[in-house]
Amino acid sequence: MLDKTIQDWKSEAAALEIEGRAFINGRYQEALAGETRSTISPANGQKLAEVANCGTEDADRAVTVARAVFESGVWAAMAPADRKMVMVRWAELIEDHADEIALLECLDVGKPIADTTGVDVPAAARTIRWSGEAIDKVYDQISPAPADCLALVQRLPLGVVAAIVPWNFPLSTTAWKLAPSLATGNSVILKPASNTPLSALRIAALASEAGLPDGVLHVLPGPGGSLGRHLALHDGIDGLTFTGSTAVGKQLMQYSGESNLKRTFLELGGKSPNIVFADANLEKAAAFAAIAVFYNGGQTCTAGTRLIVEESIREKFVDMVIAKSKNWMPGDPLDPATTMGPMIDAAQLNTVVEYVDVGQAEGASLVAGGNQIMMDSGGCYHEPTIFDGVNNDMRIAREEIFGPVMSVIGFKTAEEAVAIANDSIYGLAGAVWSNNINTAHKVAAAVRVGTMGINNYFGGDITVPFGGFKQSGNGRDKSIHAFDDYTELKTTWIEFD
Ligand code: NAP
Repeated sequence: MLDKTIQDWKSEAAALEIEGRAFINGRYQEALAGETRSTISPANGQKLAEVANCGTEDADRAVTVARAVFESGVWAAMAPADRKMVMVRWAELIEDHADEIALLECLDVGKPIADTTGVDVPAAARTIRWSGEAIDKVYDQISPAPADCLALVQRLPLGVVAAIVPWNFPLSTTAWKLAPSLATGNSVILKPASNTPLSALRIAALASEAGLPDGVLHVLPGPGGSLGRHLALHDGIDGLTFTGSTAVGKQLMQYSGESNLKRTFLELGGKSPNIVFADANLEKAAAFAAIAVFYNGGQTCTAGTRLIVEESIREKFVDMVIAKSKNWMPGDPLDPATTMGPMIDAAQLNTVVEYVDVGQAEGASLVAGGNQIMMDSGGCYHEPTIFDGVNNDMRIAREEIFGPVMSVIGFKTAEEAVAIANDSIYGLAGAVWSNNINTAHKVAAAVRVGTMGINNYFGGDITVPFGGFKQSGNGRDKSIHAFDDYTELKTTWIEFD
């Protein structure tokens, strides 16, 4: 895998057979209305495949099957140890097909092949294996009831769960949703983002091959505004798990209220603070400041897009980060040396271009990048871009750009750094860099986010929960805590004569 060249990957891409049909009731099927749409390569603008464009009638069909299969108990009532075996086998099959899935993800999303092989596919397999292995080790409870009573507190699956995921980490977010929802015994209908349906469609068939009973998992590609909305309003769906923008998350809460009050868990946007004190390891902090924004082209919910730097080192530190940003010049995602690929599509690229104009109009200093590049490729590439002299009231400091754009904001005291960090509608992630344990820990404790790094950025793995405070969401993906989103607690109170 690691020794493959760009030519090797191009040859494999040319030979790849891409499945674009929906996955319903254990097999690939056309949308009932026969509609399709093209999925386009963000790297060159060319068509990758025709994909089923599912409508409300496909959703209704999947809900009916998913409900019947749930009620049958074929999966929901299977012993957790047996569900574990299926999940673990599924993870193994994903690993067996690692290069193929990594290639699909690279082509569909424009993610560098080094990332899809090194991060996305192994992490998806690990997520599924971990949830499977955990499920037969979770005990229910007996409450401290009076001696003539026995009170059981059990965790039961919700029933039919809809999962709606975005395009920026399609495989990872799919695994984060499917692993705990399936491990806990639910039937699941996944709607991938319209831009990036391919990896989810592929791994659904591997789940069947691993022994997941037909009808437990369905993957329906189709438009969020119609298919996604219909799922969110559907009275036959008991739980909705979502990763995407805060704007759509708010709509989904409304849909839940307008329909059956389905449990609705949201993982949403961010504008994360990355705070650097003068006493930090500046070399490491500068490298990670660049990683925090330019990894995945800045199309990362946890991107550390607000770099909040102690004034006494700001000028020097910004120069160091500018130097590091040169390591993130975009390239062909199929080249193993590429660190940053294109934006997902022309609309996202235009958003980035517009925000660069906004930043300049607001009076921030553009100190690196700022331009669309590689126009001849037909793809949507943009330089890593840094604004210095940013004020936290500016739009480039408040709004999620979702592109490779960093805003540098100065501070003089720790209190000021915390106030700037918390002055945001979001609360997803953040980091603080300092070699003073008191400063680092006090600041980390005061910043209101779901995940905080001390002297690292993007730290974490499947063992820790992931989710946001404030308008960054209300659910938790990953770890044993994710099981809470997909289960109801049921009390059984027994009295003895
Ligand atoms: P998005 O526009 O909110 O779309 C996300 C998903 O929702 C897509 O599948 C989309 O379908 C669907 N959708 C759109 N409108 C809908 C509606 N009215 N009803 C039901 N579903 C609907 O977000 P995105 O642009 O794909 O992703 C970027 C956003 O995701 C960013 O804000 C980022 O911060 C956030 N994100 C958060 C996390 C996290 O864990 N907190 C992780 C990754 C990304 P279509 O594709 O057909 O539009």
